[in-house]
Amino acid sequence: MAAAAQAKGLEGWLITLEFPSYYAVMTYAQDRALREEVYAAYCTRASDQGPNAGQNDNGPVMEQILDLRQELAQLLGYASFSELSLATKMAESSDQVLSFLRDLAKRSKPFAAQDLQQLKAYAAEQGCADLQSWDSGFYGEKLREQRYSVSQEALRAYFPIDKVLGGLFAIVQRLYGIEIAEQKGFDTWHPDVRLFEIKENGQHVGRFFFDLYARANKRGGAWMDGARDRRRTVDGVLQSPVANLVCNFTPADSGKPALLTHDEVTTLFHEFGHGLHHLLTRVEHAGVSGINGVAWDAVELPSQFMENWCWEPEGLALISGHYETGEPLPQDLLEKMLAAKNFQSGLMMVRQLEFSLFDFELHATHGDGRSVAQVLEGVRDEVSVMRPPAYNRFPNSFAHIFAGGYAAGYYSYKWAEVLSADAFSKFEEEGVLNAETGRAFREAILARGGSQAPMVLFVDFRGRAPTIDALLRHSGLSEDAAA
Ligand SMILES: [Zn+2]
Repeated sequence: MAAAAQAKGLEGWLITLEFPSYYAVMTYAQDRALREEVYAAYCTRASDQGPNAGQNDNGPVMEQILDLRQELAQLLGYASFSELSLATKMAESSDQVLSFLRDLAKRSKPFAAQDLQQLKAYAAEQGCADLQSWDSGFYGEKLREQRYSVSQEALRAYFPIDKVLGGLFAIVQRLYGIEIAEQKGFDTWHPDVRLFEIKENGQHVGRFFFDLYARANKRGGAWMDGARDRRRTVDGVLQSPVANLVCNFTPADSGKPALLTHDEVTTLFHEFGHGLHHLLTRVEHAGVSGINGVAWDAVELPSQFMENWCWEPEGLALISGHYETGEPLPQDLLEKMLAAKNFQSGLMMVRQLEFSLFDFELHATHGDGRSVAQVLEGVRDEVSVMRPPAYNRFPNSFAHIFAGGYAAGYYSYKWAEVLSADAFSKFEEEGVLNAETGRAFREAILARGGSQAPMVLFVDFRGRAPTIDALLRHSGLSEDAAA
């Protein structure tokens, strides 16, 4: 904040409404009045409320966007924009999505209420007897620190990059019956970039580049890109797939190998899941091979699915080892990590459900005479455990659905989590390193890309339609979660 002030030629500290600045104040600022001031400014952006009321009000624009979407849907023969959105997704009908979200809400709301009660009790102990929206982040962070003081930095020593990669490869080689080997001597776009080849029974399957480290002028974030698709060409030649796997990890430093936080390890597994979806396809038509043509609400299945091995003791044993002593992750650190994983998961779940239901209802029921605010109020009555102040205009900056591609699709996050958790539960039943289950997952899901409806693929693997039980259990939101 001091640097931000300096950059503008100002004295002192500059707080902006950019997310990192807002988030830092909400999480760490001791000054309650400051938190309230920043909260009020942030949650009234582009609206008829707050310090800049009416200056850039998105309200009328949102109504217009919703009208036009409704018109577009009707021109194409759909009753509502939500039906149009679902035409290319795995979910089959608006009713199915709404009852899916409501079912999750009904089952997680009691846990959210418990989380809130705990937070309120803790805040009261600290001298805050009337917890408000601008207090929950602050006391939540203090409570988390007090209960599970496990720092990502402390975990780094146990995740040197070579140990992590060796473990990741060991896991997927065992599960999917493939061999992975580094190929040296190839030209790449940067000396840090490494090339690997995947083989199966000695036969070439595909290749991937790992571009893992942050460097100047490199785009931030982590992603998988299909550099080349598997396909049969007009000459009958089979083109093998190539993937780029890009992350922004901290590079090796002063004699130490690159050391990853557990969050970064999880990111690596996530992107590798997308990579395997692209590389282990058996489809020969580019349009539906790998991740091509896979429905929006199913494309995160293989990636979120791979993350599970970062939380399983059997997986952690393979991917962790102190960079100096080789000692595996100590039991007490592991237990703290697992306990911290589901901290306030009830509150997080109902928050995501509030966004998802609001988005979906808004697009499913537009034109029924209710305003955007009324739809939101209705959803909050149903799922929320903590009401924000009346001036809150969160929809006015909900860019995912008004300015991004998530209109009538925000539910996809939860939908894909349900699929990946339920798919993984088969491994929990049969062994997390069970090669037979791994092969079945590969042939049913990874190999078939967009060549079939995702529900068909899922049922082929799981033997039944997906249920929400595994996700609730993994998130600590079921009675047997503690087991
Ligand atoms: Zn992803």
